[in-house]
Amino acid sequence: MNWSQLLNQVYADAIPTLGRGEVATYIPALAEVPANRFGIALVTVEGDLAAVGHAHEPFSIQSISKVFSLAMALRDGGDALWQRCGREPSGNSFNSLVQLEREHGIPRNPFINAGALVVADLLAKRRINARADLLKFMRNRVGNERLYYDERVAASEAATGARNRALAWFIKSFGNIEGKVDEVLDLYFHQCALAMSCVELARAACFLANEGIDPFTQERVLNPLQTRRINALMLTCGTYDAAGEVAFQVGLPAKSGVGGGILAIVPRKLAIVAWSPRLDPQGNSVASLAAMRSFVERSGLTVF
Ligand code: GLN
Repeated sequence: MNWSQLLNQVYADAIPTLGRGEVATYIPALAEVPANRFGIALVTVEGDLAAVGHAHEPFSIQSISKVFSLAMALRDGGDALWQRCGREPSGNSFNSLVQLEREHGIPRNPFINAGALVVADLLAKRRINARADLLKFMRNRVGNERLYYDERVAASEAATGARNRALAWFIKSFGNIEGKVDEVLDLYFHQCALAMSCVELARAACFLANEGIDPFTQERVLNPLQTRRINALMLTCGTYDAAGEVAFQVGLPAKSGVGGGILAIVPRKLAIVAWSPRLDPQGNSVASLAAMRSFVERSGLTVF
C-alpha cells in the first residue's frame, strides 16, 4: 500500500468537513487553537510513517491519554483494576455523574472521566511520582525526551475542573478512590494536558497494533491479552456516547479527545491519528472522524 498517497486522498476527502462543529471552549488554551488545523499520520508495525497536513504540530491529547494511563495501570496491577471499574459503554457523556450513584461509585469503563480517575488513583497509589512516570512512559513510546505536559492547559483544567472534582469526590465517597483526591486530579489534569503531534501519538500507540510490543524499541509494553482488551474497550467505549455509531461507520478501535484528536488502531497493522479541533456534539472531531471513515473505505482495513 502507498500510505502517503492514501493519506493524501483521505485528507482531501475530509477537507470539506473542516468548517463543521465547534472548538472546545471550556479552557482558553483549547479555544485559541486555530479551528482549521488538520493533520493525519499513520505509523505501521513495520515502522513506515506517512503524514499529511498539520501532522507534526503538537496538540492537547486530552482523553486520548486515557488509553496510555490504562496501559500503565494494567501493566502495574494486572486485573486488579477490574474490581473497581467496568467494561461497558456508558451511553452517557464522558463527564456524566448520573450512573455513579446507582452503581455504587464503580465507573462504567476506563475511558469516561470517572473511570480515568479510578485509573489515575491506581497509578498514584503505586508510585512515588506518577506524573513523572507517565511522562517517562510516553517519552519512551515516542522516543522523544522533549515531550511535555502543557502546564498552561493543566492549570486551566484544574481551574475549570469543578465537574471532575465532583466526580472524584463522589467516587471517593464510595471508597473507590483510595488516595488523596487532589493528587488523583493533578495526575488526571496533567495527562489531559500532554502535548503531542499526530505523528508522535501514532508512534506512541503502535504497541496496540503489535500485540503489545513497541515495534521501535522491541519493548513489551503489554501482553497480547491486555492489548486485545484495550482495543476492545476502544471500540466499545473510546468515542464516548458515539461509540456505537463510530463502530458502525468506521469499525476500528478508536479513542478521541476534546482537543480534536482521534487515535485508531488497525490490529497487527498500524496506528492512525487524525487531528482537527472542531467537535461534534458528542465531543468527537468532525474532520478527524470523516478522515477515519474515508481511511477505512479507501483501504478496506477494518476489524470486521
Ligand atoms: N479534560 C477533559 C475533561 O476532563 C477531557 C475530556 C475529553 O477529552 N473528553 O473533561
